[in-house]
Amino acid sequence: MKFGGTSVANGEKIRHVAELLKRYHENGDELIVVTSALGGVTDGLLNTANEVSLSGKVSHVKEFIADLTKKHYDAIHVAVRSDDLRSVCIEAIDKRIDELEKALIGICYLGELTPRSIDYISSYGERLAAPIVSCSICSLGVDSASFTGGEAGIITDSNYGNAKPLEESYYRVHERLSPLLGKSISVVTGFIAQNHQEIITTLGRSGSDFSASILGAAVKADEIWLWKEVHGIMTTDPNIVQSARSIPQISYIEAMELSYFGAKVLHPRTIEPAIRHRIPVRVKNTFEPDFEGTLIVAEQKQIEDVVKAVTLISRVALINIAGAGMVGAIGTAARVFSTLASAGVNIIMISQGSSEANMTLIVNEEHLEQAVAAIRSEFCNNVVGEVSYDRNVCVVAVVGAGMNGIPGVAGKVFHALGNAGINVIMISQGSSQHNISFVVSASDSIEAVRILHGEFQLDR
Ligand code: ADP
Ligand code: ASP
Ligand code: MG
Repeated sequence: MKFGGTSVANGEKIRHVAELLKRYHENGDELIVVTSALGGVTDGLLNTANEVSLSGKVSHVKEFIADLTKKHYDAIHVAVRSDDLRSVCIEAIDKRIDELEKALIGICYLGELTPRSIDYISSYGERLAAPIVSCSICSLGVDSASFTGGEAGIITDSNYGNAKPLEESYYRVHERLSPLLGKSISVVTGFIAQNHQEIITTLGRSGSDFSASILGAAVKADEIWLWKEVHGIMTTDPNIVQSARSIPQISYIEAMELSYFGAKVLHPRTIEPAIRHRIPVRVKNTFEPDFEGTLIVAEQKQIEDVVKAVTLISRVALINIAGAGMVGAIGTAARVFSTLASAGVNIIMISQGSSEANMTLIVNEEHLEQAVAAIRSEFCNNVVGEVSYDRNVCVVAVVGAGMNGIPGVAGKVFHALGNAGINVIMISQGSSQHNISFVVSASDSIEAVRILHGEFQLDR
């Protein structure tokens, strides 16, 4: 069971989580728990590290540390209802906050922030949360211990910020955590792991979902549950469309497409480990535990709802590569892709018309500058005549395995957008036919999501 940042945002919520866990434990369930950082803490750590690497202000570090300490002390006071356990917990937290403060002051003086130090700093959110959740469980009379991802056995490569777990992790986790099942509730930090040199790595933002499914697959769990503050996976982001509904059941493939295409509700790699042993994944609401939520399973139920959900990816940019010299020039696409790969740029969408005179790519906005520079320098204006770009775009995707082989879905999508006067800049449909994704100007994006949600009657 994984609890997201909103589920453990403060002492009351952590206590609620501990009580929930106690109930399942007493019901005979053998549990492993993954916790995120207390809500907002990871952002705070990253912003502060960035800020002080530029300003060098030690006073800023001191202020941040004072707030962070207060936030965690407050949580301990409410969540841990035993004086002895409270002192144990405070001692653990003090030690970690002290290390963090030293690291941040180091960054002030060095004035540099490497990917490795970003991972180290951001790991403190979960490293402060796990002891509190664990002590809260203990204070309810249930045995529990906390572990970092690395201590639990998750070993990754050294791709800081987006590290990949190595195969041996599955064996290590099984060896370390399985013997404790049923006796003690292990609370593991989400998001973070370590490499072979025992240096902290992270699995990417929102990585706790991924941690939970790695642990679940390693111990061959019966189910992997992700507890959040929403009613499961919904037909679209409920912040965009209020009438969004919870989807009772969805396939692995659909859930993966949704997460790749921006549904922030799941880390994009969450489903991969679950697939190994076909472990069902449930997404549930921490604050309404009796609500079923969403069940993610291997089978694809081809139901009448051809489209299951609509998603939006903002903060992307479009790059257009054009030039008459590209027509029939074998290897141009390969050169573009390998150039971007070497520049560390991830490509989200690709489209090339059969005229071959231009190619359009969508990348994360933060990669735009390096992407454009890399392509311009690789081609030095032969073959490719012009590289232009646009930051003011978003990707919208409609997802559903049911659209595979059903004619007219694309027609319906684009007809509805046309009627609303929304201009479509680029279109892509993978041959999996599980999603149709397209690019619109950022100012049209919310409206596009609303229109399609209505068009496919997803609120019914
Ligand atoms: P966690 O607490 O596990 O970190 P997140 O905050 O990462 O949870 O994910 C839940 C958030 O995802 C919701 O607040 C919601 O705004 C957003 N979201 C985006 N798309 C969807 C969707 N299709 N279904 C549910 N939530 C979504
Ligand atoms: N705390 C991390 C983040 O904010 C990981 C997570 O919450 O899943 O990205
Ligand atoms: Mg998340």
